[in-house]
Amino acid sequence: MTVIPFENSFARLPERFYARLSPEPVSAPNLIKVNHTLALRLGLDPIAIERPGMVAALAGNVLPEGAEPLAQDYAGHQFGNWNPQLGDGRAILLGEMVAPDGYRFDIQLKGSGRTPFSRRGDGRAPLGPVLREYIISEAMAALGVPTTRSLAVVATGDSVYRDEIEPGAVLTRIAASHIRVGTFQFFAARGDSDAVRLLTDHAIARHYPDAAAAEDPALAFLQGVVGRQATLVARWMALGFIHGVMNTDNMTVSGETIDYGPCAFMDSYHPLRVFSSIDHGGRYAYANQARIAQWNLACLAQSLLPVLSGDEDATLKAARHAVDAFSDLFRNAWLTEMRTKLGLAGAEEGDAVLIENLLKVMEEAEADFTLTFRGISNGSAREQFRDPKAFDRWSSDWSARGGAETSDLNQINPLFIPRNHLVEAAITAGLDGDFKPFEDLLRVLSDPYTARSEHATYAKPPQPDERVYQTFCGT
Ligand code: AMP
Ligand code: MG
Repeated sequence: MTVIPFENSFARLPERFYARLSPEPVSAPNLIKVNHTLALRLGLDPIAIERPGMVAALAGNVLPEGAEPLAQDYAGHQFGNWNPQLGDGRAILLGEMVAPDGYRFDIQLKGSGRTPFSRRGDGRAPLGPVLREYIISEAMAALGVPTTRSLAVVATGDSVYRDEIEPGAVLTRIAASHIRVGTFQFFAARGDSDAVRLLTDHAIARHYPDAAAAEDPALAFLQGVVGRQATLVARWMALGFIHGVMNTDNMTVSGETIDYGPCAFMDSYHPLRVFSSIDHGGRYAYANQARIAQWNLACLAQSLLPVLSGDEDATLKAARHAVDAFSDLFRNAWLTEMRTKLGLAGAEEGDAVLIENLLKVMEEAEADFTLTFRGISNGSAREQFRDPKAFDRWSSDWSARGGAETSDLNQINPLFIPRNHLVEAAITAGLDGDFKPFEDLLRVLSDPYTARSEHATYAKPPQPDERVYQTFCGT
């Protein structure tokens, strides 16, 4: 019975792009969750996914028909430090499929056992981080952020040894592709220009088909990635999202958010907010994300130098120009996001100052990011300020600029985000075998804009004793 109509393309690339191997079996697969909405979007039968044969496949115990399992090679800069050999250490690409609307998707198992790239890791994933990735990636999708998705969670019945003994799980991750900046770096660092060219052609065909007709397709590809990352990071900023590990191996060329480790949504606003337990220097703090994205894109540009057309001077200049363009692209995307959030029509000279002034008073008041913007539409933003005078001053500037309270903004500024304390509570209950809070939270987050009285507690910031200050990769 074919449940997933595999149609693989990455597996057609040369053998040095991956290691072929099967997932390692687990003791007792137990289906925790299937994402019916996503299954239907992919054209898959959600009921068929829940049958034992398919659950065994999503646990890695049997191979579904048509799968060509492999672990992808990649390298990357981790916190700025170069690592020439990373790769899928705990993930297996089963293959790809084309959805009814023509979009191609990777189907990957995460937490599926050791691979040649596992180094000292066990290739496994604890249930907690898997539930976390499920919740946050699906919330991001509902918030209109390009992102990898979560199709299923299967508990393995095996223990995973971290600081504590934890139950293991496998996440089925869906992505436009898993090609990373680090995938390009892997081959470029080895001087393998043929591979860089093949990978570029592959990525163009999948993600930037228009680039194929450009005068220099590789340059058009680079420009395309720069553009998508600029809008992606602007979208993160508009939601108070902090990725937390923007290493070059955690940045896709498709423009999707990937690798939900220690990421978090801010409650109270501070530009230098950091949650990740391993980000000691604040490299990946909220306000640094655009700068870091550009740094990563410079790594991509450098990797593409051998396949850009022209002499050394010309390619360097073109690459630098493409990366420099990020600054304005991001700035404009960010301004557009923020103007939209504030209901400002058109573009005026003083808009950036107006937006920055709001952020300044929010910072001083430690105002809740989400509720401040949500409250712009009905005056309740004021409640976020202990001393509302600063906000009132800003508000009159905003009115003078043409800002007006309108409920239309409720479709722009979400009420529900995956607040850390809610995510933690859902995970804690799940680890005790109670998945109702997980299911309830997913339901609320699937419609982030509509206020419902029965969901009121989900909109609230954490009480002091509920606050979560640190998040962990949990790998
Ligand atoms: P991450 O920080 O999760 O993006 O992972 C960075 C690198 O470490 C990637 O090459 C992962 O495949 C690898 N890795 C992370 N956790 C594990 C694990 N439990 N076992 C093996 N490899 C891992
Ligand atoms: Mg990663």
